[in-house]
Amino acid sequence: MKYIGAHVSAAGGVENAPENAHKLGATAFAFFTKNQRQWVAKPLTEESISAFKANCKKYGYQPHQILPHDSYLINLGHPEEEPLQKSRNAFLDEIQRCEQLGLDRINFHPGSHLKKTSEEKCLIAIAESINWALDQTFGVIAVIENTAGQGTNLGFSFYQLKSIINQVEDKSRVGVCIDTCHAYSAGYDFKTKAGFEKVFKEFEEVVGFKYLKGMYLNDSKKELGSRVDRHESLGAGTIGLELFECIMNDSRFDGIPMVLETPNEEIWPQEIQLLKEIQR
Ligand SMILES: [Zn+2]
Repeated sequence: MKYIGAHVSAAGGVENAPENAHKLGATAFAFFTKNQRQWVAKPLTEESISAFKANCKKYGYQPHQILPHDSYLINLGHPEEEPLQKSRNAFLDEIQRCEQLGLDRINFHPGSHLKKTSEEKCLIAIAESINWALDQTFGVIAVIENTAGQGTNLGFSFYQLKSIINQVEDKSRVGVCIDTCHAYSAGYDFKTKAGFEKVFKEFEEVVGFKYLKGMYLNDSKKELGSRVDRHESLGAGTIGLELFECIMNDSRFDGIPMVLETPNEEIWPQEIQLLKEIQR
């Protein structure tokens, strides 16, 4: 079973996200549990939590169809102590919000070395951050999103994702999310069927599909290996539709939330429909 949706707005309260997803004809969704550009947010109210749960039930969304995303400000690999702790505290709060909402995973960008430390040390710090937060929480999987490798962002190669996983103590609570635009920008050439098979064979060998807990389905405005993160609507970018056809017809992608974060929100219902229809 494929679960397909989009990264929807939670404006006015998290309880609005399931309804916004339902309106698109989505069977999955991603959302922010707080403003993604602020460090601190008011705690979720009891009313908001119960309305969120009621709406998920009403529209048929279970935790494995939902991919909450953390704040963009968080850098779990920050090379300096004070901002690192600030990031860790914010990440812990994000996980606790997911716990309150009854969700089973949190998606996040791993971190950036800011040219102040080595890649290796940054990856160690990221893993330590994950361990620190998981120790204080229960039931939520830390889902590391691959990046385009823009600036000093790490997590752009399968090896880097695996390196973090290797250093996480509780392997049952760590996973990855692959954003197709990010992977293509990072140099993974999967725009043809042959390329798709090769890239995901490498993914299976290096990371393993058992860790795949979500997908962002985006085309890219930029060329292969550009290391620039610019999403494009499906079929309108440099990747094209063949990749998405391959994904939608491969059972290794069953049972996880797969969401669009493409720039034209108005055509999300059509893009979701397209993804459903290309399943043979
Ligand atoms: Zn992106």
